[in-house]
Parts: sequence; C-alpha cells; structure tokens
Amino acid sequence: MRKHNRDPFLLTPGPLTTSPETKAAMLRDWGSRDAAFIDINQRVRDRLVAIAHGQYSHVAVPMQGSGTFAVEAMVATFLPRDGKALILINGAYGHRIAKICDYLGRAYSVHVTPENIAPDPTDIGALLAGDEAISHVIAVHCETTTGILNPLAAIAETAAVAGRRLLVDAMSTFGALAIDAREIPFDALAASANKCLEGAPGVGFVLCRREVLDECAGNAHSLSLDLFDQWSAMENNGQWRFTPPTHVIAAFDQALKEHEAEGGVAGRFARYRENCDILVSGMRERGFTTLLDDDQQAPIIVTFHMPDQPGFVFEDFYNRLQNKGYVIYPGKLTDIDSFRIGCIGHLGATEMRGVLSAIDQSLSEMGVSLTKAKS
Ligand SMILES: *Cc1c(COP(=O)(O)O)cnc(C)c1O
Repeated sequence: MRKHNRDPFLLTPGPLTTSPETKAAMLRDWGSRDAAFIDINQRVRDRLVAIAHGQYSHVAVPMQGSGTFAVEAMVATFLPRDGKALILINGAYGHRIAKICDYLGRAYSVHVTPENIAPDPTDIGALLAGDEAISHVIAVHCETTTGILNPLAAIAETAAVAGRRLLVDAMSTFGALAIDAREIPFDALAASANKCLEGAPGVGFVLCRREVLDECAGNAHSLSLDLFDQWSAMENNGQWRFTPPTHVIAAFDQALKEHEAEGGVAGRFARYRENCDILVSGMRERGFTTLLDDDQQAPIIVTFHMPDQPGFVFEDFYNRLQNKGYVIYPGKLTDIDSFRIGCIGHLGATEMRGVLSAIDQSLSEMGVSLTKAKS
C-alpha cells in the first residue's frame, strides 16, 4: 500500500532526487539554435569549469547519455591508441573502465585492491616505475560501489612525479568534494549532471585540459563519443553536433544556480556531510554496522552489512521502505552481503531522519529488532 503521494526520495547513487525548481526548468521546449539555449549551454559549461577552478587550464565538454558515456568518451579521446593505462580498481566502476578499454582495444594493466581498501600511492609509484609503457593512470575518486574515498591528490602526485598523465572518474564526487585543477594535475575528469550537482539524468561532461585536447584529434574510435569533435564543433558555433538534450541542459542550469546559491562545493559538502552523519549514527543506534571505517567513507553513499537475523529479508525491507516513499539500493559487493543508502541529491536532515523512522516502522512491521538480537 502506497501511503505517500509525493515522488519517492531516492537514496540511491543515481538517478537522484532533484529540486522542484530543477524539475520545473524542463517544462519548456527549446530549439537547438535558439540563442537563449546557446547561452544556457555556455553558462553551464563555464560554471562546470569554475567549480574545479580550471578557467585557465580546462574546458568542459558535455556528452549526451548517462555517466558511463562520459567516462567512455574520456578514455576513447584521451588514451591514444598506442597508449597504455594503469587502472586503479577497488569496485565496480573501476572494473567498468577496464571493460571500456577492452571494447576500445586499448592496452592496460590493473592494480586491484579489495573493495574496502584504497590503493596505496607507494604501490602505484612502484608499478609505474616497473612499466615504462604505461602512459596514463585512471582513477575513480569515490568508488560508489562501497562509498570509499580514494586518495586523489596523492594518486595525482604519484602520476605526475612519474611523468604519467591522469584521467579521473569523479562521477560521484564532483560538486561536493573539492577538486582543484590548479593543484590536481589531471588531463581529463568525467562526471555527470545527476549526482552531486543534482541535475536531471541524461548528460555527462568531461573537464578536459585544453592543450591536451588539442592533440586528441583522431584518437577516438567513435564519432558520437569523440570529445575532440564534440568540443571543436561546439566552439565553432556554440551548438551541439547532434540533437542536444535541451530539457536536461535547462534543468542543469537551474541545478547549478542552486549549487552556487548553497555556497558551491563547500555548501554542498556540508549538507551531505550532515546527511551522512545523521544516517550513520542513526543506523548504528538501530544495530546496523557499516562496511567502511568513518575515515574511509565519503559522504556520498554508505554501505551497511546485511543483518544476519532470520526475520530480516532484504526484499521485504526494501519494499516496505519504498512503500513509505524512500528508495534505497541493493549492495554491489563481490563477496559481502550488503545494502546501500545514499546521502546525495536534493535531501537534507529532515529526509535523513525520515528514512530512519521509515526504517523503524519497517523493522517493527517485520518483527525484527537488531539491537535486541545483539545483547
Ligand atoms: C554513477 C557512476 C558512474 C556512471 O554510471 P551511469 O549509470 O552510467 O550514470 C560512473 N562512475 C562512478 C564512480 C559512478 O558513481
């Protein structure tokens, strides 16, 4: 029985809850050559670069599709056909990058650490020293599989010291965790509208080091995913090469205004930090345990161990929460039974307390008490 009459709150790693104003920004049809739309598109691109302080070094190239399209476009455009990547993997999104390289026919090696362990820059340095063919390091900033935060600054420094280039999947952190292009020397960084920037899903983007992008013509295997071509055409006349996702860009513009009004990255981080703290402390009070230690955890998404009490059936728990208007997410770990609850999207303390009380109700309907089971 559905008791709520609003959109559900999405405590998931995407799609995410968006603000009413961001949704409303989509209630208009734009022509792709409309000067007002071209202005919006430029404003969005400029704002994305500014969030990373990349005005003097980087350009933002949007790419239609979900986040993976942007990651694949980044790898295809920036990793030359005779290059070789070292892919740092501690979760599903790292593995996905290796799979992308398989499709693209690009050479790579991997450095795999367990899903709850971040890569150690010393190990990365040794791998780079041992293989001169490696031209690029590819890292995932927050591995959304668990919510673990990987040490981007240290990885970037290790790559730079070894004279290698860096590509970053910052899909689940960009806009909430500070990434400063003046301090972190990346060639390219991929993210999307519908994670910490709280836009609608359907467009990603890559922040590209301008001088490197200039040399990337001809690298891509695919016309539609060629960031060099997308960028040159857009620079030429301000328009997209192919049908632009106009409604999604208009929503993104509104979402970026809200990001700025909230205090940019610092403001967004503060809200997500509070969301995460309320969630984690509330879940611990109820007898749930987290996969990660607090100092490994990004305030993006939290992985909880599946309770091993017989009365606790995840499907049932999930459905009861959904019926109360809160959507959580199953786990994605290879060998630990878990589920995840996100802290990002247009949600605040009220919604985090709301999900905790929906959890209380669901557990009591299920006849499960985790704290009693423990004592
Ligand atoms: C969400 C996400 C992606 C992209 O996933 P899509 O489903 O294609 O949007 C890529 N990398 C990370 C780390 C993510 O969190």
